Amino acid sequence: MIQTPKGTYDILPKDVHKWHYIEDIFRKTCALYNYKEIRTPIFESTELFVRGVGESTDIVNKEMYTFLDKGNRSITLRPEGTAGVVRSYVENKMFAELNQVTKLYYMGPMFRYERMQKGRSRQFFQFGVEALGSNDPTIDAEVISLAVNILEQIGLKHVKVVINTLGDKASRVNYRKALIEHFTPVKEELCSDCKRRLEQNPLRVLDCKVDCEHPAMKSAPKIRDYLTDEAKVFFAEVLRDLDSLGIKYEINDNLVRGLDYYNHTVFEFISTIPGFGSQTALGGGGRYDGLVSEIGGPEIPGVGFALGMDRLILAIEEEGIEVDPKDNVEVFIVAMNETRTFAFTLLENLRRAGIKAEKDFFERKIKAQFKQADKLNANFTIIVGEEELQRGVVSIKNMKTQVQEEINIDNIISYLKQRMEE
Ligand code: AMP
Repeated sequence: MIQTPKGTYDILPKDVHKWHYIEDIFRKTCALYNYKEIRTPIFESTELFVRGVGESTDIVNKEMYTFLDKGNRSITLRPEGTAGVVRSYVENKMFAELNQVTKLYYMGPMFRYERMQKGRSRQFFQFGVEALGSNDPTIDAEVISLAVNILEQIGLKHVKVVINTLGDKASRVNYRKALIEHFTPVKEELCSDCKRRLEQNPLRVLDCKVDCEHPAMKSAPKIRDYLTDEAKVFFAEVLRDLDSLGIKYEINDNLVRGLDYYNHTVFEFISTIPGFGSQTALGGGGRYDGLVSEIGGPEIPGVGFALGMDRLILAIEEEGIEVDPKDNVEVFIVAMNETRTFAFTLLENLRRAGIKAEKDFFERKIKAQFKQADKLNANFTIIVGEEELQRGVVSIKNMKTQVQEEINIDNIISYLKQRMEE
């Protein structure tokens, strides 16, 4: 039997309503904050991610689905959404609209070749936003508040916001030096990834899942001691704006995020529900002021987040949030062999009138058809009998009250609509 490729799974009809639920909340909330959807290709030139995600990252080093297409181009299935959105922003010169924050959102599958575990797969889904064009710390707070609003509407109670600043370029030059000095004496005790990170991007050593218990991690210098005055002010303003909205957060000095392009604000949304497993990050993001120019555009700042939809679904289940599948049918038509053509046209007419309707397609006996109506939780059944049809009527039974009435065939839809409103 052919199965789904390792690291992927089917989202089955019995579960898909939960996806629709979070997708609807995401779309509606983005619209409220004036973000517009953008759809970019699922594969891009490999170079985009090497530049846009960063050469020192695990994503680029180990996790990308990269292949040569038949024209010998190096192609990569997107491992995240920001690089593609920024590429499109530059390619379509969206920055030409001066003094505008370009607010974009996306959702869809992402691909990373990772070790499988609960909450981690090789094809997973994200939705995210990017706000491009403004240096204002308030936009960082807006982006965070948008995510918090979405998480609250979904109904999640056990989520905390963790935040940090990586400062500006000048802050990081000094901090980088301090980290190299700190970790070099213990370099041989660190994992092979960290040895490489120490040379390429020492900040990312702090992010290591293997060495996180090493004593040198706890005693590592803190970015806050290396921030320039401007960077301090920027961070204070983001926190002030979050405070003004009553958004609670926790400052974590070691939060550096996995991607190379972040500066200033970085944040994550962590599920705190017990039993969630080790992959507790529901999403995260930050400010990336150098990314647009890295991808070939002008010096334009940006800030955004991505939420992992698969983990949001896990969180919904873990927190016991019930999502109504709304999958019952309004009307089930019970018909005999002699009345099947009438039943079929009636079925179509009901649907065109906006009434969700179903009938039997197995030529079942009447009793079995009623059973099926029950199984589909139909609110009404319409019984199309031969003798009644000759009189120009059908019987409509309210399945809750068990009341059955004869209705003229011309009045079926108006009768149902009236009853449905009661
Ligand atoms: P990142 O782009 O790595 O910051 O990821 C943002 C969010 O996407 C994470 O917080 C997760 O919720 C989700 N995510 C990232 N990688 C995976 C994966 N392999 N499987 C499932 N969800 C993921």
